Order: sequence, then structure tokens, then C-alpha cells
Amino acid sequence: MATHPTAACICRCFQPCRTPGSRRSWRSAGRPSAIELERAAKRLGSSLQASVTLYADTAVEQALAGHDLAEICIVSAAQLSLAAAPDGAFAMADVPGIAVTVELASGEKCQRCWRVLPEVTTIAAHPDLCGRCADAVDHHHA
Ligand SMILES: [Zn+2]
Repeated sequence: MATHPTAACICRCFQPCRTPGSRRSWRSAGRPSAIELERAAKRLGSSLQASVTLYADTAVEQALAGHDLAEICIVSAAQLSLAAAPDGAFAMADVPGIAVTVELASGEKCQRCWRVLPEVTTIAAHPDLCGRCADAVDHHHA
């Protein structure tokens, strides 16, 4: 059993965990995640329209080192803040010390990966793709 908090347990604050090896999710536990609540309120269409801020401490920051937080959470953008969480931030009683706010990601939707990122439309050779996808396309279809 990994130590708490792990990147896996942190990502459950956002939506069902897709970390390899983890089968448990908040959905199966019958509890909505921060992003599910936003979708239910019709503020988000999909998790990839979201930009999230995770408010946590340095232990969490260390647990997340080397992980792509946006990828773990299946959102377009994610940042970690060591500041105090604002009023109204999403939190769970059994995931202490962690809170989340969800906003709409800014930018356009990449037509390949569907992440909403500011660089989409700015890449001349691939105006409908994000930087990562433009690279992938150039390297695999050159
Ligand atoms: Zn992309």
C-alpha cells in the first residue's frame, strides 16, 4: 500500500481515478467529484474543458512530483497552489488538506486530443492542434 497522500488518491478529488492499478473510484463510491458537480450544473461539458487548481501542502506537492497533474485529472490544465484554499473550494472530509477549484480552460479545443489549450490556433502548420499533438503528427506522418 502506497503512502498517503499519493497522486492516485489526490486525483479522486477531481473525478474517478484512472491511475493504472487503481479500480476504486468516487463514482463507484456513490460520490460525485468536483468535475462531476460542475458538469451536473452545466458549467462544464466535459472534464477536458476544465482548468483546475489543487490547493494542498508541500507533502502533496512532493507526492505529485514527476506526475502530469492535468493528465492524472484528465483536464486540460491543472496547477498546484500552496496557498490557502478559497471559500467554496471543493473538498472531501476523508481527503484532508486538499481542496480543488474548477474553472473553464481558456483557449480552443485541439481536434486530436480534445484538450482546451491556449496554443491551439497559434501553430501555423497545425492551427487546429495543440503543441503536443502537432509534434506527434509531424513525427509520425512526416
Ligand atoms: Zn492535442
